[in-house]
Amino acid sequence: MERTLVILKPDCVWRGLIGEVIKRFEDEKFNVIALRMLHLSAEEAGKFYAVHQGKEFYERLTEYMFGSPIVSMVLEGEKVILRIRELIGATDPKDAVSGTIRKKYALSGLMNVVHASDSLEAAREEIAFFFDEDAIFHYQRREGS
Ligand code: GDP
Ligand code: MG
Repeated sequence: MERTLVILKPDCVWRGLIGEVIKRFEDEKFNVIALRMLHLSAEEAGKFYAVHQGKEFYERLTEYMFGSPIVSMVLEGEKVILRIRELIGATDPKDAVSGTIRKKYALSGLMNVVHASDSLEAAREEIAFFFDEDAIFHYQRREGS
């Protein structure tokens, strides 16, 4: 089964949207199989977003992402990488399709509620950044009471 790494960014936590966003994922039948709240250090934020080093928004992005509580999680499901990217919507809420999480909640192209891996390789690396294999769980969904 495919896995992806999702981060609920500081603006999601500050505004009390943790439950709201996780509900959207669970409603789509994706399982949360690992979950943790943490602060990134400045170095860790820089390392996590190293792919954007040199871009004009890099400093603002790493400043925004460090020192505030975030929630990181691993989601599992069929085509979860692509489907979560679709569910969250475009980076800038102005470009996001209606019904997507970022369209509904993002404050700006920077403070856009949620991060999600964009490829199999990124998912593998990003999951390993936050979680040891023994912190990742497995279970089957059971419907009903
Ligand atoms: P994502 O994969 O949709 O999150 O977007 P990217 O990987 O391109 O960028 C990573 C993060 O950097 C985004 O989610 C935003 O928080 C921030 N970011 C990206 N592009 C811009 C931009 O043009 N301006 C600002 N201020 N922030 C940006
Ligand atoms: Mg990205």
